[in-house]
Amino acid sequence: PLPIVAIVGRPNVGKSTLVNRIAQIDEAIVHEMRGVTRDRSYHNADWNGVDFKLIDTGGIEVGSDDSFQGSITAQALEAARQADVIIFVVDGKVGINADDEEVARILRKAKKPVLLAANKMDSTKHEDELWEFYQLGLGDPWPVSAMHGHGTGDLLDEVVKHL
Ligand code: GDP
Ligand code: MG
Repeated sequence: PLPIVAIVGRPNVGKSTLVNRIAQIDEAIVHEMRGVTRDRSYHNADWNGVDFKLIDTGGIEVGSDDSFQGSITAQALEAARQADVIIFVVDGKVGINADDEEVARILRKAKKPVLLAANKMDSTKHEDELWEFYQLGLGDPWPVSAMHGHGTGDLLDEVVKHL
């Protein structure tokens, strides 16, 4: 079976946009309605010839028979159990909140590589604001812009080192 890379994080941080960027799919998956996400959640992806399965944990449909569904806490626990590498996405513009801290607490205990992606860093002028994310205790944050693609190659280089 392919190794699993799970994307975890609270709503609206840009998980689906990042999945879209990594999987390079052109269907419109960043589309949510009435609290029930319509995102596709599983994609086959590859980076530099390394194949993996990419899971958007926030895109699991409520009511679907899937272990990644539920609260973001449940999703983080499931990612910690099943994934080979976890990408924890936070909003690099808004900063961290209590939900991010809760997810970080779970992921720090996971015996899996966790890469902290500070998304929405659309221009390098924001990169001096990254200090805030060190308090999540997950090492260096990776500044990315899922929308524009900045930093996503460096993040993926790091991901595949762990696969
Ligand atoms: P999700 O709920 O975590 O899956 O987040 P989405 O991928 O649906 O994105 C939430 C919102 O953030 C959407 O309006 C996106 O267009 C926006 N967004 C995602 N990535 C970026 C980014 O890199 N920069 C900016 N400026 N906005 C982004
Ligand atoms: Mg989403």
